[in-house]
Order: sequence, then structure tokens, then C-alpha cells
Amino acid sequence: MPVELLGKSAEELREYVASLGERPFRAAQLYHALYAERRFEFAAMTNLPAELRGRLAQEASITPPRITRRFPSVDGSIRYLFSIGGSLGEEGAKPAQIEAVFMPREGRQTICISTQAGCAVDCHFCLTAQLGLIRNLTAGEIVGQVLVALEENREQLAPQTNVVLMGQGEPLLNYDATMAAVRILLDPKGVALAPRHVTLSTSGIVPGIERLGREKIRPSLAISLNASSDEQRNSLMPINRKYPLEVLLDACQKYPLRPREYFTFEYVLLGGVNDTPEDARRVVRLIANVRSKVNLIPWNPGSLPYRPPTPESVEEFQRVLVDKGVPSFVRYSRGQDVFAACGQLALMETPSPFVELR
Ligand code: SF4
Repeated sequence: MPVELLGKSAEELREYVASLGERPFRAAQLYHALYAERRFEFAAMTNLPAELRGRLAQEASITPPRITRRFPSVDGSIRYLFSIGGSLGEEGAKPAQIEAVFMPREGRQTICISTQAGCAVDCHFCLTAQLGLIRNLTAGEIVGQVLVALEENREQLAPQTNVVLMGQGEPLLNYDATMAAVRILLDPKGVALAPRHVTLSTSGIVPGIERLGREKIRPSLAISLNASSDEQRNSLMPINRKYPLEVLLDACQKYPLRPREYFTFEYVLLGGVNDTPEDARRVVRLIANVRSKVNLIPWNPGSLPYRPPTPESVEEFQRVLVDKGVPSFVRYSRGQDVFAACGQLALMETPSPFVELR
């Protein structure tokens, strides 16, 4: 069985290269070819001697996620359906399908990636939840989504790349593989992204937040809040029964934010559910002691029994936050016409009938 190299750290590649009897600098060259140059074929790694390339082709493999479908949105975003695992995957990894979304903008691109196939967390407003958890992704499958999306759009890349871990899955329930991938993304010798440009979004897994706070190298942290009281959050996000708001916000207060670092609270506005001015006032009180900003995400129409908030309620909600000094932004999700938007990643095989682009 060939040794899978995608997802290996610099140290792991050093050990592997040493096992072949090669000198350590060959590992650095391999790491550079893999993550900085995005070479998926050993033959294309022209910084390595031909003899070593031939040997690697015999004994090792590089298996990026395979694109099975592309869904281009009229707003320029592309939703990718990927196949992972099976005979080409890491040893024993069962085949699965996952999704990533590439969103180009003036001066930058944002890539939203998955950390699990499906998800066990069961947020009631999220289509991914309906898949259940299929399996955790490996570090190579996580970092591979970024590399493939960048390669696919090589001709049109802007100077800045943002990565958001907000696709399928709860990243903090696949902690080790997620952080192994994040370290490669943030390594100046790897994919070389800035920590403020990589955001991990969690439903509020408190032990994972505490563990992340102890990491030397870590991404920015976003918390999916979505409610202004325990009662409301229990009904939308059952994970709140395990980590209620008081426990979650206590973990946020104790999190060792660095200078200029802040939390992002994401708040999906569901029409008639959590979008009143009183909700906004409760949110202000909840997060009063946490250095943070709030992203308001008007609900995207889908097959679930919710409705979008009215434009007036979105405006009023934001006004309450801003008046109380809480930085807040309204984020209209991109790619809504191809099921690429927040809470819509559920392996849909068709473009969406719910085109409502702003
Ligand atoms: S919102 Fe995130 S954590 Fe919640 S079910 Fe969907 S993918 Fe899982």
C-alpha cells in the first residue's frame, strides 16, 4: 500500500524521507512542492531529482479530493462536490462525498471547506445535519479541498485567500485532523495564509474551545450563536443542552485572545423565531464581556420549515447592536442558487430553485 503524503506535516515528511534513506532537505523540498506549489503528481515536482521522483511514484501517493460535480452560481461562486476515500484514499478511509465553495471577490477569494462528511450536531436550521455524521475527514482531505479549489481557479486568483471552516461538519469534533490541516494552511512554508484569514466556526464545543486557546498557532474563532436565550438555543441547537450559554460564554471570556484578536459570533436570523429587537438586546447583554463582532446572516430559503427575516427586522436587529456599541455586519450568503450558502451544504445534486441573489 503506498504511503499517502497529502496532509503530512513537515516533521512527518522528514521522518518519511529519512525512512527512504534521503537527506532532510529533500523533505523540505517535498513539503514546498506539495503545499506551496500545489503539485499533485510526483513527476511535476521538478525541484526533486528524477530518481527520487520515480521512487516516490512507486512507494507513495498524493490523493486530493476528486471533483465529481461543479455548480457555478450566477454570483461567481462555485460549489464543488468532492469524492473522498475508497481505494484512492488513506488506509481504511471509507468513501464519502463532501463539499467546498469557492467565492471570488475583488482582491480576494474565500474558500469554505468541510471538516467532516455530514455532521452529528443536529442544528435544526442546517441541511447538513440531515445527513448525520458519515465520518471524520483526514488532515489531507481537509487541506486538499483548499489546494484543489486554488488549482481549479489558478488563472483568476486574487492576492489574498481566506479559508473558512464552515462547510460540512463541526471542526472541534474532529480536532486533531482539523488542526493538522490548519497548521499547514498557516505555515509560511506551507500554504502560507495569515491566521486572521483562516476562521474556524464552531457550534460551541466548549472543551474544543479551551483546547484551541492553548494552541500556539491557531485560526480565528467564530461561534455559531443563533439565539438569545437558552430556551431558544436548546430548540435550535440541541448541543446547547450540553454546553449552555453561560458555560459557552464563560469559555469565551477565559479564551486568551491576543492583541487585536476578537471572536466572531454568527447569528442566523430566522424570521419570527430569533429576530426581534428584544432578542438583539439579550444578545448585547450575553456577549457584553467578550471582545467580539457579530455577523448577522439572514436565513437562506431551503427545504426546512423556517422563513427569512424581513429586511426591516434585519435592519432593526443590527441597529440595536450598533447603538449598544457592538460591531455587527449583515452577511448575505453567496451561492444561494446552487445550495452553496450557509446551512445549505447537504450534497444537493441540483442547482437550487431558490434563487434570491442580492
Ligand atoms: S450548523 Fe454546523 S455544527 Fe450545526 S449541524 Fe450544520 S454543519 Fe453541523
